[in-house]
Amino acid sequence: MPDESVRVRSGLIRVITGPMFSGKTTELIRELERFRFAKKSVAAFKPSIDTRYTQDAISSHSGLGLKSIAIEPNGEGLRSVRNFLANNPSHAVGFDEINFLPTEFVELAEDLASSGITILATGLNLDFRGEPFVTTKELMVRADSVIMLTAICVRCGRRATRTQRILNGVPAPYDSPVLLIGGKEAYEARCRACHEVPGAK
Ligand code: ADP
Ligand code: MG
Ligand code: ZN
Repeated sequence: MPDESVRVRSGLIRVITGPMFSGKTTELIRELERFRFAKKSVAAFKPSIDTRYTQDAISSHSGLGLKSIAIEPNGEGLRSVRNFLANNPSHAVGFDEINFLPTEFVELAEDLASSGITILATGLNLDFRGEPFVTTKELMVRADSVIMLTAICVRCGRRATRTQRILNGVPAPYDSPVLLIGGKEAYEARCRACHEVPGAK
């Protein structure tokens, strides 16, 4: 019996969220590969701001990768998604790191889902301060399903739901900029109790 995520005909929006290192990208790659095995056409996009590994692939922290198209994190980038999909009809479309995309992405995702496409979107729910990323938040409340993943807290080993930013070896202050691209040198997964934001109001 085929899995529901493959069998489903009408479109839907599935959001995969959680802190850094929780396996969001791994899950996105896994889901998109399942569509491929079911002989469904698949496309994947990621904001060009996320240059940690490469521009033309979605990459996980564990080394998995999937070919993707880099888009500018602005209205022009969203228009390029619409154009691409108009010319390349796809059953399932993945978006990695939607926290970097403007809130107009929500409207695009809803339009695509209404046209029958399955949207799989990963994004951080919270920034390093523990405050919401608006695009992820707005898509989560409209999604057909939300998968909330956890990492492992590097301090205590419990489930991590927060992303800790580290600057010069210590927790970054509240007033450091929200966007700072980085991996293990700049971020850690931590639980609520171990998450530190010096200077938080
Ligand atoms: P995300 O997209 O949510 O940042 P990835 O899918 O890229 O996550 O990476 C998940 C992988 O990160 C895990 O499979 C594991 O190999 C690795 N990893 C590194 N640090 C941690 C941690 N603290 N907790 C859990 N996994 C971690
Ligand atoms: Mg990721
Ligand atoms: Zn902890």
